[in-house]
Amino acid sequence: MANRDRSIEALIAALERLPGVGPKTAERLAFHLLRVPAEEALGLARAIDAARAAVRTCSVCCNLDARDPCAICADPARDRALLLVVEDPREIDRFEATGFRGRYHVLQGRLSAFEGVRPEELTFGRLLDRVRTERPAEVCLATNPDLEGEGTARVLAERLLPLGAAVTRLARGLPAGASIAQVSTSILADALEGRRPWS
Ligand SMILES: [Zn+2]
Repeated sequence: MANRDRSIEALIAALERLPGVGPKTAERLAFHLLRVPAEEALGLARAIDAARAAVRTCSVCCNLDARDPCAICADPARDRALLLVVEDPREIDRFEATGFRGRYHVLQGRLSAFEGVRPEELTFGRLLDRVRTERPAEVCLATNPDLEGEGTARVLAERLLPLGAAVTRLARGLPAGASIAQVSTSILADALEGRRPWS
């Protein structure tokens, strides 16, 4: 729209960069933020600012936490022999609820030809470094059981196996196409319990 203020266009463009937000939604959100009381819109901006200032990326596992190393990496009681590789920091809470006591590595996404996500944009390099130095007995690839999650696990397994790590995958109890963020804790606990060697 030629007569829109450039600041509105910039806001729409910023919103459109959020995951899952297309041009129409971005436009709707932008006009919503301009319509609500200033305090409400600026409250969102302040919440983003505060969370960004308080939360950092763990230099060990790439989880998000107020501390670096994160509370899990700093906990000496965690089992260092087992490393669980997840796509997203939010999935850690799900595995914690199952009583998992190993440690994690957060990929910060998954490979996607569609979205142009390549290994360099994820934390593959840091994971390989960790496996070389920490020498966990087992690395379990707990990516989501869908096309992109499986593809990501396959590429990771190809890189981890030459390092001598025992690579495993979550059990098939997870429904194909399911999202780890959404399955029940009991299904997730079963999938962890029945994890199988990568082959
Ligand atoms: Zn950590």
